Amino acid sequence: MLPIVALVGRPNVGKSTLFNRLLRKSRAITHDMPGVTRDRIYGECQMNDVKFDLVDTGGMVLESEATPELSKDFEDEIFEQAREAIEEANAIIFVVDGKEGLTPLDQQAAEYVRRSGKPVMMLVNKVDGSEFSAAMTSDFHIMGLDLLPVSAAHGYNLSEVRKRVRQFV
Ligand code: GDP
Ligand code: MG
Repeated sequence: MLPIVALVGRPNVGKSTLFNRLLRKSRAITHDMPGVTRDRIYGECQMNDVKFDLVDTGGMVLESEATPELSKDFEDEIFEQAREAIEEANAIIFVVDGKEGLTPLDQQAAEYVRRSGKPVMMLVNKVDGSEFSAAMTSDFHIMGLDLLPVSAAHGYNLSEVRKRVRQFV
């Protein structure tokens, strides 16, 4: 069994974009694991000498696109997903959306992440260039987690993510 790094965060923050981006560079293979929740997608990552399974909570994005206003049931489903992903993970990449800023759902998710006691790295995504970094991350410092501004879509700071992931797996 490889160590597991889980991507956790509310819908639309960019988890799947990040997942694909991180896997591409490592020439990874995604695979379905028999017996695990269908909504999680696993991809084997090789970053230099470190190998791990990166996990995306996959099913949520389609539902969220169809449901802009989150229903109570859907929120519960998100949290069930996040809880399971956190529970099986060795380390957590917690993703938030720098364009939208901090939301109550982020704070709730962060609480679960913190309570797990597992190593966590918070990525403030959608910071599409270093010039936006300070303004877009300022909201998130109160969460008391180490944070890194990134752009999953444009690649900003992703080499730093890879470096840090290797250290905390
Ligand atoms: P998920 O629901 O957390 O998996 O989020 P997705 O990866 O599906 O991304 C949600 C939306 O945010 C999509 O429209 C992405 O194109 C967009 N997105 C993801 N990463 C970035 C980014 O770094 N910058 C910008 N501007 N948009 C992004
Ligand atoms: Mg997704």
